[in-house]
Amino acid sequence: MNEHLPSPTTVRCAEIGDRRARPLRDLRISVTDRCNFRCVYCMPKKVFGKDYPFLAHREVLTFEEIARLAHIFTRLGIEKIRLTGGEPLVRRDVERLIGMLAAIPGLDLTLTTNGSLLARKARALSAAGLKRVTVSLDSLDDAVFRRMNDVDFPVSRVLEGIDAAAAAGLAPVKINMVVKRGVNDASIVPMARHFRGSGHILRFIEYMDVGHTNGWRMDDVVTAAQIVDMIGAEAPLEPIDPNYRSEVAARWRYRDGSGEIGVIASVTQAFCRNCTRARLSTEGRLYTCLFATSGHDLKSLLRGGAADDAIADAIGAVWRNRSDRYSEIRTAETARLPKIEMSYIGG
Ligand code: SAM
Repeated sequence: MNEHLPSPTTVRCAEIGDRRARPLRDLRISVTDRCNFRCVYCMPKKVFGKDYPFLAHREVLTFEEIARLAHIFTRLGIEKIRLTGGEPLVRRDVERLIGMLAAIPGLDLTLTTNGSLLARKARALSAAGLKRVTVSLDSLDDAVFRRMNDVDFPVSRVLEGIDAAAAAGLAPVKINMVVKRGVNDASIVPMARHFRGSGHILRFIEYMDVGHTNGWRMDDVVTAAQIVDMIGAEAPLEPIDPNYRSEVAARWRYRDGSGEIGVIASVTQAFCRNCTRARLSTEGRLYTCLFATSGHDLKSLLRGGAADDAIADAIGAVWRNRSDRYSEIRTAETARLPKIEMSYIGG
């Protein structure tokens, strides 16, 4: 047995706060930098083409390394882990990793996917211990969706994936739609109509200036307020309380009781002050903000023989020193600065 594999009784230590008194609660783990989609705003073909230098196998954290870090993070206060990428379901045997993470007591474990492989994998994911999924879907209009994913992937197969996830008990299924003006804003109301009353929770995300390949401009952003107005004009909405303090989506429910939607106003109503999230890249670098320009190398510690306590100390030191609040200080100038790609750091 690997001497570093943690015991199931992970001991939590006292809460650590960053320089703005934000605790460490959520961890996003990117399990691969690869994706089978080439969404034009995220992994455009002209950048992520055949010659793109994706990480080599040896550079990627193994499942054992990820599980070890997950246990250490849990000791430091992490309550929720979301697997992401790239596309997490293209990582071979990802169910095995889910089984390892699901064994951590009290951990809320979830995953974000483009849904393309979900119809095939939903039951195995659920059997391995996954609790819920979030599926990205940017339009119900097949032509728009195929143009956006740029690999000619049809809407119908993502909808099959959503059905399979719900049938496997990965519920409530959340569906995330990134809105880019002039590209898929005409899909907002049809998406709301389609998912209203389904039990799934549709969430709209303001288009963000992540990475440096998408040429972001403020004009591309349809604001959360505009989205709520568009949907509310057809089906009246009222705001509801967040489920927990650091929830990123503002929740709105249909007045007739037919469900709720969420809006993630990362650009127009930044939520940095409540951000309790760290990110672990595919090659084991720790980032304290989606808009960070550099990460902290945990893989060298793992592979250099550091003990769990030493790794916990290193993570704690990074978190205590954290002062990021990029979205609160975003300007047209900062939007142009180089940043890490979302497919690498994990969306
Ligand atoms: N492949 C998985 C998926 O499609 O959900 C996980 C990774 S993907 C990077 C996670 C989410 O980030 C997707 O919903 C994607 O639409 C979103 N995303 C990518 N670039 C974005 C941007 N510039 N602004 C807002 N959301 C973005």
